[in-house]
Amino acid sequence: MIDLAFYERHTREDLAGRIAAELCTEGSEPGWKRSRSNFEKTAFHEAGHCVLARINGRHPFKAEANETCGQVTFSEKSIQYGSISDKEMISFNVEYVAQNGLSLDLEKLEQETVQLLRDHWQWVKRIAHSLIFKRILERDEIDGLLSDMPEGAALC
Ligand SMILES: [Zn+2]
Repeated sequence: MIDLAFYERHTREDLAGRIAAELCTEGSEPGWKRSRSNFEKTAFHEAGHCVLARINGRHPFKAEANETCGQVTFSEKSIQYGSISDKEMISFNVEYVAQNGLSLDLEKLEQETVQLLRDHWQWVKRIAHSLIFKRILERDEIDGLLSDMPEGAALC
């Protein structure tokens, strides 16, 4: 039997990039929109992956963002978010879980990810702003920026 919760955690992590990039355009009043450059959206996208990874007890090895792309890696060799897109990872998870007779409820996972990102938005912002400033963050810097974040707080 596969560990469904494991695939749910990873899928939330994969969803977190796109969702964080969407949330960062929310304004200070309901219905208001904030204008963000592609670079800023990419920084928030990668920051979303980083924060959900930490919630899952994982330590990103490196986060990068620039005007055209970004990625979060988990080891020197990792190509996790480089050559495999978030969408591909999510459909891989969905199919793999289905092959094992279980199912991933993407709508539920999406809602949970939105909630987790909102609850941890101060840390998402902190990583994003640092990425905009430095473009590359190493593991120690990411851990430092998230050191006061409650780990594994929710949905574990
Ligand atoms: Zn991503």
